[in-house]
Amino acid sequence: MASTIQTLPTEVVYLITAGEVIDSLASVVRELVENSLDAGATRIVVSLWPQQWRICVADNGCGMNLDDLQQAATAHSTSKIRSRADLWKIKSLGFRGEALHSLTTLADLEILSRPVGGKLGWRISYGDGGKVMQVEVTAIAPGTVVTVSNLFGNCSSRRQGLPTAAQQMKAVQGTIQQIALCHPHVTWQIWQNDRQWFTICPAATTGQLLPQILPQVRQGDLQEVKLELPNPPNSSLNLVVGLPDRTHRHRPDWVRVAINGRMVKTPELEQTILSAFHRTLPRDRYPICFLHLAISPDQINWNRNPAKTEIYLNEIIYWQEQITQAINQVLSISSANFKEAVHTTRVSKLLQAAEAKGSYNFTPQNPNEDHKTSNSSLATPNSLKAVAQVSNTYIVAEHSSGMWLVEQHIAHERVLYEQLCDDWQLVPVEPPIILYQLSPAQVSQLQRIGLEIEPFGEQLWTVRNIPAPLQPRDDCAEAILELSWGGDLQTAQVAVACRSAIRNGTPMNHEEMQTLLDNWQRTRNPRTCPHGRPIYLSLEESALARFFRRNWVIGKSHGI
Ligand code: ADP
Ligand code: MG
Repeated sequence: MASTIQTLPTEVVYLITAGEVIDSLASVVRELVENSLDAGATRIVVSLWPQQWRICVADNGCGMNLDDLQQAATAHSTSKIRSRADLWKIKSLGFRGEALHSLTTLADLEILSRPVGGKLGWRISYGDGGKVMQVEVTAIAPGTVVTVSNLFGNCSSRRQGLPTAAQQMKAVQGTIQQIALCHPHVTWQIWQNDRQWFTICPAATTGQLLPQILPQVRQGDLQEVKLELPNPPNSSLNLVVGLPDRTHRHRPDWVRVAINGRMVKTPELEQTILSAFHRTLPRDRYPICFLHLAISPDQINWNRNPAKTEIYLNEIIYWQEQITQAINQVLSISSANFKEAVHTTRVSKLLQAAEAKGSYNFTPQNPNEDHKTSNSSLATPNSLKAVAQVSNTYIVAEHSSGMWLVEQHIAHERVLYEQLCDDWQLVPVEPPIILYQLSPAQVSQLQRIGLEIEPFGEQLWTVRNIPAPLQPRDDCAEAILELSWGGDLQTAQVAVACRSAIRNGTPMNHEEMQTLLDNWQRTRNPRTCPHGRPIYLSLEESALARFFRRNWVIGKSHGI
């Protein structure tokens, strides 16, 4: 069989961004593991001996035949592209044909490989420049084992420039975890000094894999969505988001973007993600958000830097819009986002058999009123039904898979805040409001948010217009003073929303509660208030059934 690894034509070599990519243990791991993934591996074992500067990566991928093995480590040889045009069709992680070649100049390289379906496996050790030094038949399962030893042995200054072994191992771990998130179907086993160091089990989706990597995050804290996009054809967007009412970070270290199987630095898209979470998190907290775009390769130029961690992406504004929409979709409260309802579990099937009502249904507080609202709430399929008010502070809301306690003040604050962001209206006041002893900074702050303010004698100012929601209030002067203390327009909008939202401790009738729930549910970011506090406590039916051990009774009464 003819070799499929070929040397790239010189004109293509010139087009590829040149540069050394092997500069650390982590970069060796990245290059070898990417080769394994390109070979279709679903199981990858990485073994490290940092003190010996030795790394071994074994995979169950497609393997190589003898011809390919002999060619693999020569300069610019790759099976992944052939011509200049192929640079716009890159589906693989590698394409430069340089990693194995550079390794032969920086370390000792040995590869064992057996192609899937091949009868024999071969072991080859390579010399400087990728020359084949030794070939022998070897017993090996289909797949490839690449061993790099004595890394930077002929170049001690490189070793000295590197951080401590512990830090390098941390970088290796980070590299593997990032790659694993992009390829959740792969099983990973990582060894250090002949001891198992960590493993990553395969998962159906990135969201299901993430808790293995970030143990403080639980599955229920995450929401995941996959959108197929019509444009460009065959593109898709996979988004895993930490719900802002449940989890966030003190650094933006988990705002991550991957494109076509590789984590990339794209400040433009990271900024879009941070903006989409604006005013949903407490101050100085950052979201968890992992975005994976699958884009047709002709839209991407991987050639921005040799390590391929930065790219040029066409139509960046289009992608920014799609990302913002997708984040809004996962953060919204819709029936699609309700956590898995109990009726999908085995227990629930038993519950339905054992209990009069398998589905959720409260007896309404006031049957007449309920009749009216339940009709209107049926119109919106994901609706919440107001059931009762507790302590004049919480609204008990029922939905298809459980109930929530919604704090009335901050739910209303969220509604008003978004209304103010959409429509910041200033209305005239008569008589004008008189303020005393303002500093020049306070006066200019009020002007900045659009208020008409004029001096009115010694230490006195008049304000002739105010934000609309403050109009009916008798604490207007106090509210304006609060606004004068600084911040931007959004800070002012938060302050006005907070001041005009219904106070806790205020009794609400059923209709008022239902109206608030309806409006709140329609907000763009219903989970947290603009200060980042959670708005509701969820009591999902699945959790309640577990808490009340409802399976015990059924189990017993059904003799299970
Ligand atoms: P590139 O990945 O850019 O093609 P490399 O130097 O990393 O360049 O690898 C050269 C070639 O060796 C690859 O194109 C591939 O055909 C082959 N190869 C490397 N590692 C493996 C592996 N683990 N399994 C199968 N083939 C491999
Ligand atoms: Mg490669």
